[in-house]
Amino acid sequence: MKTLREMDYSVVQQCMHCGMCLPTCPTYDETKVERNSPRGRIALMRAIADGKLEVTQAFADEMYFCLGCLACETACPAGVDYTELFETARADAERSGVLKSPKRDAIRVAILKGLFTRPRLLRFVGRLLWLYRASGAQRVFRALQLNRLLPFRFRELERMTPRAEAKFSHQLIRPDERPAGQVKYRVGLLTGCVQDIVLSQVNRDTAEVLLANGCEVFTPPVQYCCGSLHAHNGDVDTACELARKQLDAFDLNALDAIITNAAGCGSHLKNYDHLLADDPVYAARAKIWSAKLKDIHEWLCEIGFRHPTSSPAEQTVTYHEACHLCHGQKITRQPREILRAIPGLKLVELTESTWCCGSAGIYNITQPEMAGKLQERKIRHIADTAAPVVATANPGCHLQLESGARKFSLDTIVRHPVSLLAEAYRLEKPA
Ligand code: SF4
Ligand code: SF4
Repeated sequence: MKTLREMDYSVVQQCMHCGMCLPTCPTYDETKVERNSPRGRIALMRAIADGKLEVTQAFADEMYFCLGCLACETACPAGVDYTELFETARADAERSGVLKSPKRDAIRVAILKGLFTRPRLLRFVGRLLWLYRASGAQRVFRALQLNRLLPFRFRELERMTPRAEAKFSHQLIRPDERPAGQVKYRVGLLTGCVQDIVLSQVNRDTAEVLLANGCEVFTPPVQYCCGSLHAHNGDVDTACELARKQLDAFDLNALDAIITNAAGCGSHLKNYDHLLADDPVYAARAKIWSAKLKDIHEWLCEIGFRHPTSSPAEQTVTYHEACHLCHGQKITRQPREILRAIPGLKLVELTESTWCCGSAGIYNITQPEMAGKLQERKIRHIADTAAPVVATANPGCHLQLESGARKFSLDTIVRHPVSLLAEAYRLEKPA
């Protein structure tokens, strides 16, 4: 991957310093420090590209203080490609070694290279998480307040431990499922990594919604992480390696679309053409991949999804927009269209629905203070709607909202829009 100094200079110099992005930037909003704003960060990146600044620890820290939420990209009238700048800047920070420490290196190797490149190992860890909860060990641990014995950082991590599902996606979805009626489309289904462990039922719901809309669904039972975590954390080589594995897992020519239901993954998966542009073997396939990659909401609206006919009990739902769906993919209308199509569902708009919830990949682990502030702000707005359900379409947001609701004793349940649609289809009486 190119460095800031090597990248296309038209991307680096695009910013015209107008400041229109500033009010949309969560970190700037909190600190009011120019360096913590998109304009400030881009100025630092440009100084490096121009050779006026070296990559220092302060620069690297700033790049990791940025959420990568891309709200600035939506606000920018000049069309600044913040995604490319941000990923290049973080890769530069990693290459320079200014953040190196034995502890940080060990954690990065264990998580990015060890765990998130090995789907079977990830499932094994998921199984242990499930056992921790199902055996009652977690309940006992918390009842005895044993987490007080842990250092603060680990105490927070224990509190955020996600609830793993009893069954993972390959136990819920067969590799090839055909709809009851005529096959109108053939689609591949991505089951994700975190999604596969903690929200595999959302994957089952997605398969059911696709089947109900005439799609034959191909779901490889073992799938690799899409690599977004790696690309956003400066490990572009591993991100490319994982992208190639994804391309190998699907017969692209036989499929009309490849479907993802996770916003963060979708935003990155659509970028494979760019990521593998210089790869002599994979570049052409990556182009086809990106053209066929669809977010589930986008796909359903594109094919004119069938509106459910039966009405679940009346329910009020509010909608939190995952950054990488609304800013990364500019998908805002479709999830609302799906929610509004469910009979009996009343959609209440959420104040600051496009404001980051603080999850941002692993930001809530690396920057717990800022992530906590954003979580609290989001939970306050959700509480104001009085909706018992908040819909969102990204596993990171899903877990961040669930942990926020627990922390602030809010009864609101978090659901994926597609799960609500699947539920409505299930309630329909057979024809
Ligand atoms: S990505 Fe988000 S946090 Fe980073 S500069 Fe843009 S708006 Fe601010
Ligand atoms: S809105 Fe765009 S052009 Fe204006 S300061 Fe922000 S990044 Fe630069």
